[in-house]
This record gives sequence, C-alpha cells and structure tokens, in this order.
Amino acid sequence: MAKKDKKPVVGFYGLTGCAGCLLSFIFNENEIVSLLGMVDLAAFPFIKGKQGDKEFDIIFLEGVVCSNDDLDMLKKLRAKTKILVSLGACASTGCIPAYRNFIDEAKYLPLMYEKVHRIKDKDPKPIDAYVHVDFTIPGCPPNREEVKSFIKQLILGKTPRLYNDPVCVECKLNGNHCLLDEGKICLGPITRGGCDSVCTNGRFECWGCRGPCPDANYEAFIALIKDKGHNSRTLKERMQSFAGLKLPDELQIEDAPDYVG
Ligand code: SF4
Ligand code: SF4
Ligand code: SF4
Repeated sequence: MAKKDKKPVVGFYGLTGCAGCLLSFIFNENEIVSLLGMVDLAAFPFIKGKQGDKEFDIIFLEGVVCSNDDLDMLKKLRAKTKILVSLGACASTGCIPAYRNFIDEAKYLPLMYEKVHRIKDKDPKPIDAYVHVDFTIPGCPPNREEVKSFIKQLILGKTPRLYNDPVCVECKLNGNHCLLDEGKICLGPITRGGCDSVCTNGRFECWGCRGPCPDANYEAFIALIKDKGHNSRTLKERMQSFAGLKLPDELQIEDAPDYVG
C-alpha cells in the first residue's frame, strides 16, 4: 500500500463486460468527487487515459476474460499493481458471459457476429483463473458504498473483509416473506450477502450475482428446492447463471448424481 501521507495511486480498468460496474460509479458526480478525495485516480475509462507506463497501488478490474486481448491486458495490469481487485461479478465469477461454458457451441454460434475470431478464442472466465487476485468485490454491479468502504479500509491499513453470511440473513432482517414459500426459486440460501437483499426486498428472487457464500450447503438447498417440486434442471441453470464456474465441480457436470432431473 501507499505511504500514509500519500494518496494511493488507483486505476479502474475494464476487460470484456457491459461497463456497468464502472458506469454505476461515474454516473454519480458526488461519487467521483468523493473518490478523488481519497485516491490519486490515475486511470478511469471515459475520464482519464490508460496510463500505460504508470505503476499503481490498487487496480480495480471489471469484466471477464474472453479473448486473447483480455488476457494480455490482464497480465500487464497484474504486473503494474501492488493490489489487484476483481470488481463485480464478471471479473469475480464470470457472471452471465461465462454461461457460455455450459452450453453447446452449436447453440450459440449462429447468434454470434460474423467476425467471431476474437470472441471465440477464449472460453469466458473470471480473472482469478489466470492471475493472482488480492481482493474481490462481488455483485452485478457492485454496491458503490462497498467500493468506497473497501478503499477506506485499505487506506487505513486494514484488510477489507467480505460479508460472508447468505442473502437470507439480510432478507430476514429486512422482514421479507420468503419467496421459496411462494413457489419461486431463490438462491439466497447459497449466495453471499452484503447487498442488503436488494432483490428480495422488491419481491424478485436472488439469482446469485454475488457468488456462492463460503459455507453454502448445496445438498440441503437442492433437496429443499426439489421438495418444493421444482425441476432440478431449471435449478441447475439458475445456479449456473451468475456463478456457475464457482460451484463445486460435482454440481457442474451434466450427469451430476441426484442433481439433473
Ligand atoms: S458484473 Fe454486471 S454490471 Fe459489471 S460488467 Fe459484468 S454484467 Fe456488467
Ligand atoms: S426470499 Fe430468498 S433470500 Fe429471502 S429468506 Fe427466502 S430464500 Fe432467503
Ligand atoms: S439479492 Fe442476490 S441477485 Fe440480488 S443483488 Fe443480492 S446477491 Fe445479487
């Protein structure tokens, strides 16, 4: 980390992604002003140049690795920074783009652009599949307050910690009626909270955008969902949507015992 009397040199970058993680930050003028008060912001898409030769204290990286260009950029950024933070679900779990890992090529090829060579050259993967990642800020997109709190903790010399309880904990504290009892498939029991159960507060199921919580009991959850009469194939597809590559291996294979209905 930077010395205490000096602001940390921070860069925000994006690999392949929707830019939503970055845009959610810069769409609010106050957030940028607040950020500039804390750090020496040396690179931010749409605002500041790429700073090719700069050394960084912290780089926040959005997006998924799905091309050789992405991988080259990722390796260069890793070499330039003391701390690399995966920003958002794409960088951390692979998110929706990584769903391509779970479907037959024949099904998605007709949907792709004519010039597919760049898109085809890597199966989409989160950045920790290729380089060491120091910290993760989950979510699609991540919560701005979480990003700011993360930076503050680093500046104070503390080690930022992720919220480890499942979404259900915050959901219950918020007084919500459980969507599982309404016949919906909600991934709250196996998903890392910290989002204040924003989806279930609005009566939408949790789709797992913050990735699996550390002590997720998949067997119990799957049994519960099956007991409620849901098709396990549907459940599997739901679980793979945002964090399929972070599920235990035995839950990812097509003929997973007791799992694919
Ligand atoms: S995590 Fe979500 S908001 Fe961020 S780049 Fe990926 S799809 Fe967009
Ligand atoms: S609605 Fe979802 S997050 Fe809330 S308690 Fe039920 S399963 Fe958990
Ligand atoms: S409730 Fe689930 S899907 Fe919604 S933000 Fe939280 S972790 Fe993501």
